[in-house]
Amino acid sequence: MLRVAVVGSGPSGCYTAQSLVQQDPGVHVHVLDRLPCPYGLVRYGVAPDHEKIKSLQNNLRTVLEHERVRFLGGVRVGADGVPVARLRELYHAVVYCVGAATDRRLGIPGEDLRGCWSATEFVSWYSAHPDAVADGFLAGARTAVVIGVGNVAVDVTRMLARGATELTPTDMPQAALDSLAAGTVTRVHMVGRRGPSQARFTTKELRELSTLPDSRVTVDPAELELDPGYVDPSSLPAPQRRNVEVLRGWATAPAPAGRHGIRLRFFLRPVEILSDGDRVRGVRLERTEPDGHGGVSGTGRYEVIEAQLVLRSVGYRGVPVDGLPFDPVHGTVPHAAGRVLRDGVPSPGEYVAGWIKRGPTGVIGTNRPCAKETASSLLEDAPELAARSLPDDPVALLRAAGPDPVEWSGWQSIERAEAALGASLGRGVVKIPDWESLLTAARGGGAVP
Ligand code: NAP
Repeated sequence: MLRVAVVGSGPSGCYTAQSLVQQDPGVHVHVLDRLPCPYGLVRYGVAPDHEKIKSLQNNLRTVLEHERVRFLGGVRVGADGVPVARLRELYHAVVYCVGAATDRRLGIPGEDLRGCWSATEFVSWYSAHPDAVADGFLAGARTAVVIGVGNVAVDVTRMLARGATELTPTDMPQAALDSLAAGTVTRVHMVGRRGPSQARFTTKELRELSTLPDSRVTVDPAELELDPGYVDPSSLPAPQRRNVEVLRGWATAPAPAGRHGIRLRFFLRPVEILSDGDRVRGVRLERTEPDGHGGVSGTGRYEVIEAQLVLRSVGYRGVPVDGLPFDPVHGTVPHAAGRVLRDGVPSPGEYVAGWIKRGPTGVIGTNRPCAKETASSLLEDAPELAARSLPDDPVALLRAAGPDPVEWSGWQSIERAEAALGASLGRGVVKIPDWESLLTAARGGGAVP
């Protein structure tokens, strides 16, 4: 018997647990999460209107309901939680699948002004993350600038342009729904510092922008043509070529009128978030040009986009787990095929998978092979790992050390409470957005906001 703790119940944690129990009938896995709810970014990152991707929860559920897998929510590991060294004592092996918990910063003046948020904060708010900052993102905002041209930028742009009819059937919390459905933000500028052929969004996500009811997507053909890859896409990889084709279509065919204007801009890098008192009033951007090596250089020409809301969507970033080594440059844990490296040497019984292993890139499915590699490394090491005798009941010892884990039945109580909340609002399932109500619901209490 090999007893493994997987820390994190998002896609990488669930796929790691799945790979372990599938590959070895002697493995038992406890999947720990600091939140009382499982599924990580599938619950708290995938946009609420992307129902098909969200339905991946059903696959992850079958993993967490496996007879040799046990979910333990509400268990924090590291600082203010179960120490990494203690976890090692309770399990033969520990796999850290903690993702990339924060956002990258721009490093320009004005980033901390009221009205300038990271996309992660905005996403957490409409996804009902219990650590989300208070409401008020859209207060007084009519125009938004989204900095970055990745899939998260597309997600937040789309959510700003969606109307009540499309948002009501989602599971987003009622306060976010009311705020977004009011539709006060009518113009969104999505801005890339490089060219259209270098944008990080995927074509399916890009194309979806032009399908939004009552919205109008525009681009500036002259700006697109600054990019040699746009002018002659023949040598681009297929995904970039497809993006260019979509943008070319928008550049040549006039978009139908719509209340929400979405404008895609390129070759503009932010240099300052401008203020009006302590609030955002716009973004100052420098025109860039291709440097011939895939990057851009500044031209010394500037423009200002007036806006009352700025969302920085420039990528996620891993945060260190207290007690684990960390590479601050890449925001990852150093590893070899998933084995954690301490001073360059594999540390027995410690592994990583997912974004904390390889950085915040790739789609959910990318986590499958990543998790499999880690699980295979762990199982290769199993004979040495299993030689160590362990205390009998790690959950009792965890409980004695402080956390009272939310077990699967507790999560199922939360699911029932969210269904009841939705029914009381005349909607489908509606997510509970705060710690207290989640924990009350987990204990079987019905009191929800
Ligand atoms: P991302 O794909 O890495 O895109 C980050 C964007 O920010 C890029 O356009 C990047 O430009 C820009 N950027 C970075 N630093 C900047 C700076 N200092 N100034 C201006 N722009 C800057 O990150 P993401 O959008 O957060 O997505 C993370 C991962 O999740 C991706 O793999 C994504 O595909 C995935 N995801 C997928 C979906 C989906 O499948 N529907 C939805 C959401 C997220 P440069 O290229 O010039 O660096």
